[in-house]
Amino acid sequence: MIVKSLVALLEGLFTVFKHLFKKSVTLQYPDERPNLPATFRGRHELSGCIGCGVCQQVCPCHAIYIEKDGKNVTSYKIDLRKCMFCGNCQYYCPVSAIKLKQDFELATGDEKDLLKELIRDKKEDEVIK
Ligand code: SF4
Ligand code: SF4
Repeated sequence: MIVKSLVALLEGLFTVFKHLFKKSVTLQYPDERPNLPATFRGRHELSGCIGCGVCQQVCPCHAIYIEKDGKNVTSYKIDLRKCMFCGNCQYYCPVSAIKLKQDFELATGDEKDLLKELIRDKKEDEVIK
């Protein structure tokens, strides 16, 4: 019984020492920032949208809402409560107007903040986050 306990103890200590000198996999976030892969898909950014509606059609989560006044896009919203960051909207946009950027810090205390308005006026080729 004592031998068994001793073996278990040594095994535990061996495991601890094995990992003691390995590089840590955790980060002191937010002081340390993660190196995200180039393909990471985070917050959307919109610039130069022509209002064709393709992104809305290919979105599997029905998370995109576009309002138009004739040919003018008056409102472009993405509901991040529904979005699963699949990247379809970016992939199929014919003019590369929508991009999923590296920004992953989307946490909020108010869920209304997750309904993101990305466009005001299609004439302005501005970037609105
Ligand atoms: S990333 Fe995917 S789920 Fe999110 S808005 Fe784009 S198409 Fe929809
Ligand atoms: S973001 Fe691209 S696909 Fe979506 S409405 Fe604008 S131009 Fe069309």
